[in-house]
Amino acid sequence: MGRAKAEAPPRQPVIERIVRAGYIHAWGFGETEAREKFVGMLENPGCNAARNRACWVSDRILSNSLSSLRASLRFVVDLLVPHDCFVCGHESGGVLLCTECAGELPVVGPACPMCALPSPGAMVCGACLSAPPAFDATFAAFPYAFPIDRMVQALKYRYRLSVVPFLAEALIALGPVDGVDRVLPMPLHVKRLRERGFNQAVELARPLARVRGLPLELVQVGRVLDVAPQMSLSWRERQSNMRGVFDCAGRFDGAHVLVVDDVMTTGATLHALAAVLKKQGASRVTNLVVARTPRMS
Ligand SMILES: [Zn+2]
Ligand SMILES: [Zn+2]
Repeated sequence: MGRAKAEAPPRQPVIERIVRAGYIHAWGFGETEAREKFVGMLENPGCNAARNRACWVSDRILSNSLSSLRASLRFVVDLLVPHDCFVCGHESGGVLLCTECAGELPVVGPACPMCALPSPGAMVCGACLSAPPAFDATFAAFPYAFPIDRMVQALKYRYRLSVVPFLAEALIALGPVDGVDRVLPMPLHVKRLRERGFNQAVELARPLARVRGLPLELVQVGRVLDVAPQMSLSWRERQSNMRGVFDCAGRFDGAHVLVVDDVMTTGATLHALAAVLKKQGASRVTNLVVARTPRMS
């Protein structure tokens, strides 16, 4: 009754909560490896700094992994249920698209090497010349057009995780990017993650990182503000709108970071993320996106 209000019940070590919640499994590495990775910074409950750090790591993991059993179940169910062709509904032999539909996918033409918008002769476009973005290069697997747009929407809003292998394969098919040190999926705000149950960028980046033998960066960068770039704003306004959206505690000194995202629309979010990475020492930032929308204005 008269006890100090500050005396909160003892917290369960974060690593235990993470393991129990299945995040480590979702993360794709074993419990022992996870303990080794985090035990030093997590298991010092008496120390406020360590506790803050633990909470921060926990948030990062939350914001970057499959967040719930529900999401994992969705994933399993979606993979187990046989699908016909995503586009035409004909039998596709267990793959996402039948041969005909796979042969009619939209293709990317000559594009600006920096922002991936259509550009004659694949020259750097006027917009990138006059106001160079913080990132150095962008590769897009597809234009944001049918049926790729439907696939991305099905993944994000209808939890069709069965489109992931197809889209991830398209990113891999773009070929290796020289000199990349780490793969960073576009972080998702924890609020969006709770709604969706997974970060689609992580699911797209995971197979790519595995194939290329590159580390997947899931902890150092987080999305701390939940704002979307608004189409109605000018490029400059969009950039200031995105200020403070990302939080990065770690250093990226001299690193070439490969940022993976599903769709690049205005480029303001990727620009904001690249700016943060450069501030933390990254030497080069390359974007790898499934789809690029045409210029808005
Ligand atoms: Zn088809
Ligand atoms: Zn450009």
